[in-house]
Amino acid sequence: MIPVLAAAAAPLLAPLAVLGLGLPLPSASPAWVAPLDGDVRVVRAFDPPPRAWLPGHRGVDLDADPGDTVRAAGPGSVTFASDLAGRGVVVVLHPDGRRTTYEPVTATVSVGDVVRAGDRIGVLATGDTHCGGIVSCLHWGLRRGRDYLDPMRLLDPGRPVLLPP
Ligand SMILES: [Zn+2]
Repeated sequence: MIPVLAAAAAPLLAPLAVLGLGLPLPSASPAWVAPLDGDVRVVRAFDPPPRAWLPGHRGVDLDADPGDTVRAAGPGSVTFASDLAGRGVVVVLHPDGRRTTYEPVTATVSVGDVVRAGDRIGVLATGDTHCGGIVSCLHWGLRRGRDYLDPMRLLDPGRPVLLPP
Protein backbone atom coordinates (compact mmCIF):
# COMPACT_ATOMS: atom_id res chain seq x y z
CA MET A 1 0.00 0.00 0.00
CA ILE A 2 2.74 2.41 0.87
CA PRO A 3 4.66 1.96 -2.42
CA VAL A 4 1.44 2.59 -4.31
CA LEU A 5 0.87 5.83 -2.42
CA ALA A 6 4.42 6.98 -3.06
CA ALA A 7 4.10 6.30 -6.76
CA ALA A 8 0.82 8.17 -6.90
CA ALA A 9 2.20 11.14 -5.03
CA ALA A 10 5.33 11.52 -7.12
CA PRO A 11 3.67 13.05 -10.19
CA LEU A 12 1.99 15.59 -7.94
CA LEU A 13 5.15 16.57 -6.08
CA ALA A 14 7.36 16.94 -9.12
CA PRO A 15 5.50 19.89 -10.68
CA LEU A 16 5.33 21.59 -7.30
CA ALA A 17 9.09 21.34 -6.92
CA VAL A 18 9.59 22.85 -10.36
CA LEU A 19 7.13 25.61 -9.60
CA GLY A 20 8.86 26.39 -6.32
CA LEU A 21 12.22 26.83 -8.01
CA GLY A 22 10.82 29.35 -10.44
CA LEU A 23 9.31 31.66 -7.85
CA PRO A 24 11.28 34.35 -6.06
CA LEU A 25 11.76 33.51 -2.42
CA PRO A 26 10.18 35.93 0.03
CA SER A 27 12.89 38.03 1.60
CA ALA A 28 13.11 40.94 3.97
CA SER A 29 16.19 42.28 2.24
CA PRO A 30 15.80 44.81 -0.56
CA ALA A 31 16.33 43.90 -4.16
CA TRP A 32 19.83 44.78 -5.25
CA VAL A 33 20.81 45.91 -8.68
CA ALA A 34 24.09 46.22 -10.54
CA PRO A 35 25.62 49.70 -10.26
CA LEU A 36 26.02 49.93 -14.03
CA ASP A 37 23.64 49.51 -16.94
CA GLY A 38 24.02 46.59 -19.30
CA ASP A 39 26.05 43.43 -18.81
CA VAL A 40 28.12 43.21 -15.67
CA ARG A 41 31.69 42.57 -16.78
CA VAL A 42 34.19 41.95 -13.98
CA VAL A 43 37.70 43.00 -14.96
CA ARG A 44 39.17 42.29 -11.53
CA ALA A 45 37.49 40.10 -8.94
CA PHE A 46 37.20 40.54 -5.20
CA ASP A 47 40.43 39.36 -3.56
CA PRO A 48 40.47 40.27 0.13
CA PRO A 49 43.86 40.15 1.84
CA PRO A 50 44.37 37.48 4.52
CA ARG A 51 45.35 40.23 6.95
CA ALA A 52 43.97 43.76 7.05
CA TRP A 53 47.36 45.37 6.45
CA LEU A 54 48.30 43.22 3.46
CA PRO A 55 47.64 44.16 -0.16
CA GLY A 56 44.56 42.80 -1.82
CA HIS A 57 41.55 43.90 -3.75
CA ARG A 58 38.77 45.05 -1.48
CA GLY A 59 35.99 45.15 -4.05
CA VAL A 60 35.32 44.29 -7.67
CA ASP A 61 36.28 46.26 -10.74
CA LEU A 62 33.56 46.46 -13.34
CA ASP A 63 34.20 47.44 -16.92
CA ALA A 64 32.85 50.95 -17.50
CA ASP A 65 33.58 54.00 -19.59
CA PRO A 66 34.08 57.53 -18.28
CA GLY A 67 30.71 59.25 -18.19
CA ASP A 68 28.77 56.03 -17.69
CA THR A 69 25.91 56.34 -15.23
CA VAL A 70 26.63 54.85 -11.81
CA ARG A 71 23.62 53.68 -9.78
CA ALA A 72 22.97 52.87 -6.14
CA ALA A 73 22.97 49.09 -5.78
CA GLY A 74 20.31 49.24 -3.09
CA PRO A 75 18.18 51.67 -1.13
CA GLY A 76 19.81 53.80 1.51
CA SER A 77 21.27 57.17 2.25
CA VAL A 78 24.39 58.83 0.94
CA THR A 79 27.00 59.15 3.71
CA PHE A 80 29.93 60.30 1.58
CA ALA A 81 30.14 62.02 -1.79
CA SER A 82 33.46 63.73 -2.25
CA ASP A 83 37.08 63.34 -3.24
CA LEU A 84 39.16 60.90 -1.25
CA ALA A 85 42.87 60.99 -2.05
CA GLY A 86 42.11 62.48 -5.46
CA ARG A 87 39.36 60.06 -6.38
CA GLY A 88 35.66 60.79 -6.32
CA VAL A 89 33.97 58.38 -3.93
CA VAL A 90 30.31 57.82 -3.13
CA VAL A 91 29.24 55.73 -0.13
CA VAL A 92 25.66 54.56 0.44
CA LEU A 93 24.55 53.26 3.83
CA HIS A 94 21.83 50.61 3.55
CA PRO A 95 19.13 49.79 6.12
CA ASP A 96 20.86 46.54 7.09
CA GLY A 97 23.96 48.50 8.12
CA ARG A 98 26.08 47.50 5.15
CA ARG A 99 27.65 50.15 2.95
CA THR A 100 28.35 50.11 -0.75
CA THR A 101 31.14 52.24 -2.17
CA TYR A 102 31.63 53.48 -5.72
CA GLU A 103 34.76 55.04 -7.25
CA PRO A 104 35.97 56.93 -9.19
CA VAL A 105 32.68 58.72 -9.46
CA THR A 106 31.70 62.31 -10.09
CA ALA A 107 28.78 62.45 -7.68
CA THR A 108 25.36 63.79 -8.61
CA VAL A 109 24.11 63.21 -5.06
CA SER A 110 24.97 64.86 -1.77
CA VAL A 111 25.48 63.57 1.75
CA GLY A 112 22.08 62.91 3.31
CA ASP A 113 20.31 62.16 0.04
CA VAL A 114 18.00 59.16 0.19
CA VAL A 115 18.33 56.81 -2.78
CA ARG A 116 16.46 53.80 -4.05
CA ALA A 117 18.01 50.79 -5.75
CA GLY A 118 18.99 51.86 -9.25
CA ASP A 119 18.95 55.59 -8.60
CA ARG A 120 21.67 57.51 -10.38
CA ILE A 121 24.36 58.64 -7.94
CA GLY A 122 26.93 59.93 -10.41
CA VAL A 123 28.97 59.20 -13.49
CA LEU A 124 32.24 57.35 -13.86
CA ALA A 125 35.07 59.85 -13.55
CA THR A 126 38.09 60.06 -15.78
CA GLY A 127 41.78 60.03 -15.05
CA ASP A 128 41.89 57.10 -12.71
CA THR A 129 44.73 54.60 -12.83
CA HIS A 130 43.17 51.91 -10.62
CA CYS A 131 42.67 49.66 -13.63
CA GLY A 132 46.28 49.98 -14.72
CA GLY A 133 45.51 52.47 -17.45
CA ILE A 134 44.40 49.67 -19.76
CA VAL A 135 40.67 50.00 -19.28
CA SER A 136 38.54 52.26 -17.20
CA CYS A 137 36.51 50.65 -14.48
CA LEU A 138 34.20 51.18 -11.57
CA HIS A 139 35.60 49.97 -8.27
CA TRP A 140 32.56 48.71 -6.36
CA GLY A 141 32.90 47.81 -2.72
CA LEU A 142 30.75 46.37 0.05
CA ARG A 143 31.51 46.80 3.74
CA ARG A 144 29.97 45.67 6.98
CA GLY A 145 31.67 47.45 9.82
CA ARG A 146 35.37 47.11 9.11
CA ASP A 147 34.95 44.01 6.99
CA TYR A 148 35.10 44.02 3.22
CA LEU A 149 32.63 41.73 1.48
CA ASP A 150 32.20 40.68 -2.12
CA PRO A 151 29.61 43.01 -3.63
CA MET A 152 28.85 40.54 -6.40
CA ARG A 153 27.03 38.49 -3.77
CA LEU A 154 24.38 41.19 -3.68
CA LEU A 155 23.27 40.47 -7.19
CA ASP A 156 20.78 37.89 -8.34
CA PRO A 157 22.71 34.64 -8.73
CA GLY A 158 20.87 34.09 -11.98
CA ARG A 159 22.14 37.32 -13.47
CA PRO A 160 24.79 36.75 -16.12
CA VAL A 161 28.23 37.88 -15.02
CA LEU A 162 31.21 37.95 -17.33
CA LEU A 163 34.31 37.05 -15.33
CA PRO A 164 37.85 38.05 -16.25
CA PRO A 165 39.59 35.64 -18.64
ZN1 LIG B 1 39.29 47.83 -7.63
